[in-house]
Amino acid sequence: MQDCIFCKIIARDTPSEFIKESDNFIVVKDIQPQAPIHFLIISKKHIESISHLGEADQHLIGQMLYQAKLLAAEHGLAERGYKVVINCGQDGGQVVPHLHFHFLGGKKMAGLV
Ligand code: AMP
Ligand code: ZN
Repeated sequence: MQDCIFCKIIARDTPSEFIKESDNFIVVKDIQPQAPIHFLIISKKHIESISHLGEADQHLIGQMLYQAKLLAAEHGLAERGYKVVINCGQDGGQVVPHLHFHFLGGKKMAGLV
């Protein structure tokens, strides 16, 4: 997608700090971290949000969520905990309309839920 910041990161048209890359998603550092560790797990396929997932995308989001488990283990957060956040649409506070999971850790985080 032209004009999509995450598609540009995936295409290497915009620089970003890559943590990982796999066939279906990338993991990068969030540019405005809200916690000592703040990564974004971003699908390579341009899907606007959870609301735009197709039936065939179920495997992809399973892989992205499993990646959060791996990141936690790799960064020593499995025991102390962390947050995985998915904003969806206007009321959900989504700013970038390209599917991504926030992975946050390294401090105690109060939240809505
Ligand atoms: P959301 O509100 O869920 O759409 O979150 C979008 C996130 O993308 C925010 O936390 C931003 O800080 C982050 N972000 C925006 N542009 C970039 C970028 N070029 N590189 C890394 N993170 C970004
Ligand atoms: Zn995109």
